Amino acid sequence: MARIVAIGECMGELSETGEPGVLTMGFAGDTLNTAWYLRRSLGMDWDVDYLTAIGTDLLSDRLLDFLSGEGIGTGHVRRLSDKTIGLYYISLKDGERSFTYWRNDSAARRLASDPAAIAKALEGADVAYWSGITLAILSPTDRAALLEVLSQFAGRGGKVVFDPNLRPRLWESADTMRGWIHRAAAVSGLCLPSFDDEATHFGDASPVETAERYRSQGTARVVVKNGPGDVTIVDAIGAVATVPVPAAAAVVDTTAAGDSFNAGYLAAELTGASMREAAQAGALLAGKVIGARGALVLQAVQGHEG
Ligand code: AMP
Repeated sequence: MARIVAIGECMGELSETGEPGVLTMGFAGDTLNTAWYLRRSLGMDWDVDYLTAIGTDLLSDRLLDFLSGEGIGTGHVRRLSDKTIGLYYISLKDGERSFTYWRNDSAARRLASDPAAIAKALEGADVAYWSGITLAILSPTDRAALLEVLSQFAGRGGKVVFDPNLRPRLWESADTMRGWIHRAAAVSGLCLPSFDDEATHFGDASPVETAERYRSQGTARVVVKNGPGDVTIVDAIGAVATVPVPAAAAVVDTTAAGDSFNAGYLAAELTGASMREAAQAGALLAGKVIGARGALVLQAVQGHEG
């Protein structure tokens, strides 16, 4: 049995339905989206665990039920009696979505305050998956502690996979974000950035520049997503290749494009695909996900369940 542990924050998602006074309730979050697509893409010889912190209230129970109902392992979810999960609200106006967040005091912000528990969760695991959002929501002390635990995991041969997912609003400052993102990349053997964000916040002129920057920080391999543009892959010896992305049949909602790409990529690579084949698998899955509304698109994975 192999095991992947995704680390991060899952929030409650309240969404307007178009009918006045009627909302739908769901759960989402960048690393959770990837875990969900991984669970649906990998065979049952893989366990997919989610590591986070939640409250002891009923809403937190609902999240736990959701995760287990989706086949995601919850054995390493911390429960904090004085906190609850973060929430966000999706408003619909003229077909456009806008987001309101209540996450500043969420339980997940304390997910790394017991580093020994994270080290324990990673014992015997093969892969740790995390993102710049996972890091952003933590205190500086907890960021350093999480980096240390992941660095030790990598030192024991664990595979650490990181999506920088740059969100300056979650950080104290853009400079702080850039500094921690590079420290995170240094302990992660594989980085999966999106060029758009990287160009905006690091000033990269091309996806190859993005990949080289992360490699110069210590990441061995980098896969740079670029919306409908080619995916750029740079392997452990620095060889660069590009993989075209299939034209999307329809672009309805790009929510979770990058998260689902990462899952498609990883599921393929963990079952023996080359970087190029894995990038093709990632793009194929993401292309389906953007064809429908929402983060977790069942139609995109039906027929692909392992
Ligand atoms: P991004 O994080 O926006 O660079 O997108 C992640 C992945 O989603 C890309 O590598 C593509 O595989 C897919 N994707 C995003 N936008 C599009 C699009 N407009 N058409 C086709 N694929 C897309």
